[in-house]
Amino acid sequence: MKALVKKKSERGLWLEDVPKPNIGINDVLIKVDRTGICGTDLHIFKWDDWARATIPVPMVVGHEFVGEIVEVGSSASGFSPGEMVSAEGHIVCGKCRSCLSGRGHLCPDTQGIGVNRTGAFAEYVSVPMTNVWRHWKGVEPDIAALFDPFGNAVHTALSFDLLGEDVLITGAGPIGIMAVVIAKHAGARNIVITDVNEYRLDLARKMGATVALNVKNSSVRDLYSSLGIKEGFDVGLEMSGVPSAFNDMIDNMTHGGKIAMLGIPSGKLEIDWNKVVFNMLTIKGIYGREMYETWYKMSVLISSGLDISPVITHHFHYTEFQEAFELMESGQSGKIILDWSKR
Ligand code: NAD
Ligand code: ZN
Repeated sequence: MKALVKKKSERGLWLEDVPKPNIGINDVLIKVDRTGICGTDLHIFKWDDWARATIPVPMVVGHEFVGEIVEVGSSASGFSPGEMVSAEGHIVCGKCRSCLSGRGHLCPDTQGIGVNRTGAFAEYVSVPMTNVWRHWKGVEPDIAALFDPFGNAVHTALSFDLLGEDVLITGAGPIGIMAVVIAKHAGARNIVITDVNEYRLDLARKMGATVALNVKNSSVRDLYSSLGIKEGFDVGLEMSGVPSAFNDMIDNMTHGGKIAMLGIPSGKLEIDWNKVVFNMLTIKGIYGREMYETWYKMSVLISSGLDISPVITHHFHYTEFQEAFELMESGQSGKIILDWSKR
């Protein structure tokens, strides 16, 4: 089968012929229909320090996907060929205290599809049945392909109560933009999103942000009076991984404000802890999605009309991956979908 492989320890990906995966008794084999390119994939493409330290070479990459079950392991009862599914990309140990208590997202022994084990940028992918998510009727395949990052946005945005609250989102990448729609749906009052990229800020405006602010030109505090904010934001969603953005958030939180932090800083991040202490802030780290409450919530949100489709700005055939990754790198895109349905 065809697959996108990190073949060499250098920038790039390679389209290769690799063996179709074998499935174990507890696995299902999925014929991949389409995939989303994640920031993580871009790190692997660019081969930055994190990728170098994490990714074994050679390896098939990718984890955002939707496809159809074509084969079911002998113990994977309840699944049938033809079902449209995605998979939770974090494969947990199933044996630790967290896993045994039904809190798999807290497992300290997590393996990532397309990160530590064979990925989904391929014609077929094998995943354990425990990780398969069956899509509900009526979910568009493009949207289904994005359940992994959509789940990051849902899990982060729903970490704290948003009804009637003022929400600050730092970073208008695909996940920040999806968080705007979720926060709006959840009843937030003002949703301010910041970035330094006009293309993405524009997308965030179209998706319903109260204000999409370019922090190169203006400051968050200047918005307070026009938005009726007196003491600062109630909830912060950090979705940039940029230290100055996080510090800006700390400076703009109300006393007792709550921050959910998804963005991954590239190195150590310095903050003024006095502000955290004296302003009595709560900071919650977010990794992945809740298994499987976030997946349930996503299905409900989509079937009740939440529309994240404008975040998808480009489609490519998988053979055009080079162009797709370069576009993603340029920042002049929202979410990019690769089509694997045709050879
Ligand atoms: P992305 O890189 O596409 O988006 C980050 C955005 O931050 C970009 O649009 C960038 O222009 C913007 N930015 C740069 N400087 C800024 C500044 N000073 N102020 C505000 N914004 C600024 O990433 P994404 O795919 O949307 O993901 C968001 C973040 O979440 C990334 O850091 C990613 O690594 C991280 N992530 C974490 C998890 C997890 O499980 N914790 C999962 C997926 C992604
Ligand atoms: Zn575990």
